[in-house]
Amino acid sequence: MTTPALTTVITGIGELVTNDPARREELAGQGGLLGLVRDAAVVIEGGRVAWVGPAADAPAADVQVDAGGRAVVPGFVDSHSHLVFAGDRSAEFEARMTGQPYTAGGIRTTVAATRAATDEQLTSHVARLVGEMRAQGTTSVEIKSGYGLSVHDEARSLAVARQFTEDTTFLGAHVVPAGTSAEDYVDLVTGPMLAAAAPHARWIDVFCEDGAFDVDQARTVLAAGSGSGLRGRLHANQLTYGGGVRLACEFGLVAVDHCTFLSDDDVAALADSGTIATLLPGVEFSTRQPYPDARRLLDAGVRVALASDCNPGSCFTSSMALCIALAVREMRMSPAEALHAATATGAAALDRDDVGVLAPGMAADLVLLDAPSYVHLAYRPGVPLVAGVWQAGRPVVAR
Ligand SMILES: [Zn+2]
Repeated sequence: MTTPALTTVITGIGELVTNDPARREELAGQGGLLGLVRDAAVVIEGGRVAWVGPAADAPAADVQVDAGGRAVVPGFVDSHSHLVFAGDRSAEFEARMTGQPYTAGGIRTTVAATRAATDEQLTSHVARLVGEMRAQGTTSVEIKSGYGLSVHDEARSLAVARQFTEDTTFLGAHVVPAGTSAEDYVDLVTGPMLAAAAPHARWIDVFCEDGAFDVDQARTVLAAGSGSGLRGRLHANQLTYGGGVRLACEFGLVAVDHCTFLSDDDVAALADSGTIATLLPGVEFSTRQPYPDARRLLDAGVRVALASDCNPGSCFTSSMALCIALAVREMRMSPAEALHAATATGAAALDRDDVGVLAPGMAADLVLLDAPSYVHLAYRPGVPLVAGVWQAGRPVVAR
């Protein structure tokens, strides 16, 4: 990949979502949250945004693209995915849709298939899914391990993921593999497995849930990860009430993910700590579970992100537009709140200050929608609205 030497101006943008806090004061209400600019242009240079403003004031550039009055939004930042796996669990999905409940144990099915796959098979599978995401407007993605559950298979899962993103997450503590006690397995995860995984990972994560790891075990894993230079994230309060969310807040984690079953104390802890609640509505959609109460979190002052949780078991969608539509329809987020959560707050959930906002100096990650407004992402669920994607200034999708 080479950085484009030319400058590009995308002009004729009917509605530009910048997420730029500096533009909020210009507009009250929902438009303020998104830093909207009407009849706008964006200039891209060297992979970065060089200029943003009214089209009439745009400087000249080597290449001109006319958006034809359509909307441009920042590329989606999907801060939670499990793309490194092999095998197919559609039969399990069909069984669940015909009456069987979701449990965490199905992960072991994918573990067997992942261990049996070659590095090349895993890499090509991740490439296919990352391409699928990009075609739908996702320009930044976090990828977890967690289907290896051995020293060798966790390390190689992360090495595969690293080819596609800097935001790789060691999730050795996904489920206790068959034939091992939880105690012995936590020793392995925090010892040799962590040592092998850490060079390939930025983050460490634990599935803190009944049937997976309890709060004390999660605390042990997060502390060990921190000792090896990995920052923590947590799967918590997905299936039941529990102490996971409060543990995340106690650790001052940047984000805690799922947050479906929350007590008043959990909500207060999130608001006080500033830990972002990352909601994954594709999971509830795909498992027929109750949705998290986004409105309660937002009204309490909690920062909310949206992510896909793309994985072969509980939610095999890569569509951030679907997550936005579900968040609006089922979780009472406004269309602006949902888009902001899927872009700027998703970036914050990865502690990234270079993506999720379209302002000079930020990565030129943009999505041209085949629609006059960002609202269509929720207004037209299931419709492929992505007409073009620029990633680090390069046009990577055009139709
Ligand atoms: Zn997950």
